[in-house]
Amino acid sequence: MRFAFTAEDEAFRGEVIDFYKSELSPEWYGGYDERDTMHEYIKGVRQKLARRGWLTMAWPKEYGGQAAPISRQLIFAEESAYHRFNARDAGVGYLGPAIMRHGTEEQKQRFLGPISRAEISFHQGFSEPDAGSDLASLTTKATRDGDDFVINGQKVWGGHLNVCDYSFLLARSDPDAPKHKGISFLVIPSDTPGLKYEEFENLAGGTQNVVYYDNCRVPVQECLIGEENQGWYIATTVLNNERTVIEHAATGKRLLEELADLWRQQGRREASGGPMAAVRHRLAEAAIEIEVCRMLAYRIGWLQSIGETPSFEASEVKIFGSEMTQRFAHIAGQMLGLYAQLDRQSRPQRYVQAEGRVEALIRQNPMFSLVGGANEIQRNIIATRGLGLPRA
Ligand SMILES: Cc1cc2nc3c(=O)[nH]c(=O)nc-3n(C[C@H](O)[C@H](O)[C@H](O)COP(=O)(O)OP(=O)(O)OC[C@H]3O[C@@H](n4cnc5c(N)ncnc54)[C@H](O)[C@@H]3O)c2cc1C
Repeated sequence: MRFAFTAEDEAFRGEVIDFYKSELSPEWYGGYDERDTMHEYIKGVRQKLARRGWLTMAWPKEYGGQAAPISRQLIFAEESAYHRFNARDAGVGYLGPAIMRHGTEEQKQRFLGPISRAEISFHQGFSEPDAGSDLASLTTKATRDGDDFVINGQKVWGGHLNVCDYSFLLARSDPDAPKHKGISFLVIPSDTPGLKYEEFENLAGGTQNVVYYDNCRVPVQECLIGEENQGWYIATTVLNNERTVIEHAATGKRLLEELADLWRQQGRREASGGPMAAVRHRLAEAAIEIEVCRMLAYRIGWLQSIGETPSFEASEVKIFGSEMTQRFAHIAGQMLGLYAQLDRQSRPQRYVQAEGRVEALIRQNPMFSLVGGANEIQRNIIATRGLGLPRA
């Protein structure tokens, strides 16, 4: 396992940094809520990235990639997150790789090129009101009727359906099979007749959807990815890719640098004493954790570069990254004290510290353990797949 980057890799990193410095508007904040409010702007920047071939650079050339080494993709993801830009959406990050592995040639041609050019976007419809951690107990049905599936049921927690062209979902296609073996993986257009949704706001400042499928009729040949009733295995590919994130390390590093700057300024004003030493130690601890998180994410890249598919390793980085961010939010909150309650809109502005990012981080904290599968479930995966322990 070797994590050193080549001189060419580092030169590429410089190009990505230059891109974000020159392309992101001075007003760009990079908040979670902007995924809704600045959708068109984000899409424009993603298309510029796509024109450079960066969004899917490690994909094969025939599917819109550049066949670049995984290390470049990792650097791109790291710098995008550091600049608080979400370049890795569901299509690029996890549906595309799953279609590459499980889809028919026709589906690869239909979806992968447009994903690599940032032309289409996807809503993820896995969770249901009574099927989250125990996803395989889902009840949304896809019933065969000739060459069609007829979908009925309800999903919850996916986001941004109002701006997504497609929805990918899991539905029960064989009610008599054991629960993991009767599920199919479908990609359907968002404007399919019978598909309706509602939006609700979450604590983190974003919106999420409840989606209803009422006799949605879709052609099997176009919408079924992989084989009928084998959708669970495709969902596993999707989720493993969703969990392999370097973003926590990169966004953590950026905020740590900003807090250290802030503290350097404040430290000059304060006489020497206890609080300063405590803050130094906490920030040093955060710096160590961020490096550990980066190494765990690099390890995933290394596994991919030797042709392996990460499994429990993805759960490791998901747990460590999300819980590290929660610990960091706590430290940052203690550092800023009551100022940590002020969001970026608070008035008067002069009291707002670190652009209100600590307030946002504390508010977003709970979601990190849940999104992509609850951390308790990730621990179960590590225990069974990683350590070979029996199922409870
Ligand atoms: C911000 C956000 C975005 C999301 N986006 C999407 C999306 O785009 N698409 C989508 O399909 N879903 C999405 N989700 C849903 C997410 O995948 C689920 O929240 C997650 O899988 C947990 O399911 P649940 O919320 O139903 O909790 P439950 O499954 O009800 O779990 C509740 C609690 O019980 C614990 N628990 C449950 N079972 C076990 C067990 N066996 N052992 C130990 N502890 C257990 C869990 O860890 C959790 O703490 C999103 C969630 C959030 C918060």
